[in-house]
Amino acid sequence: MERISWDQYFMAQSHLLALRSTCPRLMVGATIVRDKRIIAGGYNGSVSGSTHCMDDGCYIVDGHCVRTVHAEANALLQCAKFGVPTDNADLYVTHFPCLQCCKQLIQSGINNVYYKEDYKNDAYAIALFQEAGVQTKKVELNYLAVDTNYQEKAELVKKLLDKLEITEDSEQELSILKNEIEALFKLNR
Ligand SMILES: [Zn+2]
Ligand SMILES: [Zn+2]
Repeated sequence: MERISWDQYFMAQSHLLALRSTCPRLMVGATIVRDKRIIAGGYNGSVSGSTHCMDDGCYIVDGHCVRTVHAEANALLQCAKFGVPTDNADLYVTHFPCLQCCKQLIQSGINNVYYKEDYKNDAYAIALFQEAGVQTKKVELNYLAVDTNYQEKAELVKKLLDKLEITEDSEQELSILKNEIEALFKLNR
């Protein structure tokens, strides 16, 4: 049995939080970590008690949904609400932070930003992070960390593919399927 790394653990936590998002435009999760401990988490959603995008539709102004508080901001505000210091903490987030969140993260004393997906990475945000000495690092999420029977599923699909190779006539269709499955499960055949 192998233990998952801290990076994987915190990044998996952010992906779990993203599943709580209430805005269908983008599901984002963020985890604030200090001394290898999770001190706060957030996802993008409406102000507490207000209508959700997923119920009433997004509130779009200039092409952006303005209904939600971003995941990173929600995590920082949770710390503000309960009086938890964020100085020298790290952030694990599913998507590269927007400019507004970038500024709030710098101002809150966040040292490192680990993100999974590039998302319209703002040039000014990148410059501000650099100027403030905040390290940004892309972290791949190894699905072994979140999908507990991934290995069995992958093995089964692989077996199925091998069988199909013998019986299936439509080779082109099969090879498209094969590529999709291999990409999905990141199989090395
Ligand atoms: Zn929305
Ligand atoms: Zn943001």
